[in-house]
Amino acid sequence: MPLQLPPGKRLAFNIQPHFDAQSAWQGTFKLESPAYLARGEFDAEVGVPRVLALLEKYDIKGTFFTPTHTMATFPAQFEKVLAAGHEIGAHGCYHEHIPSMDPDTEARLMELTIAQHEKYVGKRPRGFGSPAWDFSSTTFELLLKWGFTYDSSLMGRDFQPYFPRKISLDLENGNTFGEPWGILEIPVSWYLDDFPHLEFISGVVHGPSSIDDLVKGWTTQFDYAYEHEEGGVFTLTVHPGTIGRAHHIVAFEKFLAHVREREGVWIATLGEIADTWVN
Ligand SMILES: [Zn+2]
Repeated sequence: MPLQLPPGKRLAFNIQPHFDAQSAWQGTFKLESPAYLARGEFDAEVGVPRVLALLEKYDIKGTFFTPTHTMATFPAQFEKVLAAGHEIGAHGCYHEHIPSMDPDTEARLMELTIAQHEKYVGKRPRGFGSPAWDFSSTTFELLLKWGFTYDSSLMGRDFQPYFPRKISLDLENGNTFGEPWGILEIPVSWYLDDFPHLEFISGVVHGPSSIDDLVKGWTTQFDYAYEHEEGGVFTLTVHPGTIGRAHHIVAFEKFLAHVREREGVWIATLGEIADTWVN
């Protein structure tokens, strides 16, 4: 049991809102029409205040993965996130799609991201959440170079943090695992994310699914982790522009109320959870 949770706690619990605003539409989806920019505006102007109010009601400090494009575009809303005491994780400069970039561009944007965290947050980020949860072959080296404590983008486990290893690829004879990179991974899951299930993107994503079905799945996964993964961590990713829609946030609140009813759940930021790791 490598996480040493506080006494009496059996499962760590984290909410990670991705405050993407307009950056994901521009950076990942290459959609920059006034219509998609308006959806990003909804994220900042309507979704974020609703999510902040709900997290305050349930006394939850989360980890807001925020592209620096959002910090610069919506400074007043980002200031409210900071003022509420949430952790800020690195989430790229403009939600750039890392696997499709050349190494020099990826390195330059990481350096810019760090500098803009120092400007808008006042310090360097300890955690990284890759935009669209994908890596290039040089991403781990950049995380080491910039001194990240943890990453939360990969899916090699579900409820147990782990150290991703180097992998030598060989299609004909099988891949070989090497030494760990040395970055603690707090895993994520597309099944524990609202966006791909609930957003409609013409020609790309055909949703939306039922929020009630989605929350039922989150609840099943949470209950399973609580019963079977003692000492682990459950982290849920939400996007304020998505979960902040009226019918979504009502269902989200029911899920948080269910979590709050369980004894022995430690609600914390990813940084706090990473700090309990004992080798
Ligand atoms: Zn994102």
